[in-house]
Amino acid sequence: MSELGDLYQELIVEHYNHPRNLRKVEGANRSVEGYNPFCGDRFMLYLRMDNGIITDIGFLGSGCAISKASTSLMTESVRGKSSEEAQSLFSAFHRMLTGQVLSDQERELLGDLEVLSGVVEFPIRVKCATLSWHTLRAALEGQKGTVATE
Ligand code: ZN
Repeated sequence: MSELGDLYQELIVEHYNHPRNLRKVEGANRSVEGYNPFCGDRFMLYLRMDNGIITDIGFLGSGCAISKASTSLMTESVRGKSSEEAQSLFSAFHRMLTGQVLSDQERELLGDLEVLSGVVEFPIRVKCATLSWHTLRAALEGQKGTVATE
């Protein structure tokens, strides 16, 4: 963690210590578990979808600082968005973490998620940061069970 920039580290630690939406969602109609065997991160993601919109989202579980902060930030970013908007956000996030140059539009879309951009320098941590997004995508596609990073 000490290698990440101070500002980014502060925000990541803040989300790790005080994760947003750390709860089971009342009336959830999608739930998928995400598991990252490389690090031991394991989260259960709960979504309530109404007419293609993510009206509520929450999670339970445990993992390293990066995975937990990323999951917290992800839930904040996608609540109220359509399935398509959430997928676009994931694709911008994924491009950021694979070191690709982002357009201004993508950076605007990412907002607070940009605090995780430092993870690009630690390939093993990319799985931690993207775990909840892969889990979200599985939930949006109507999958059940467990999604593992491979
Ligand atoms: Zn991890």
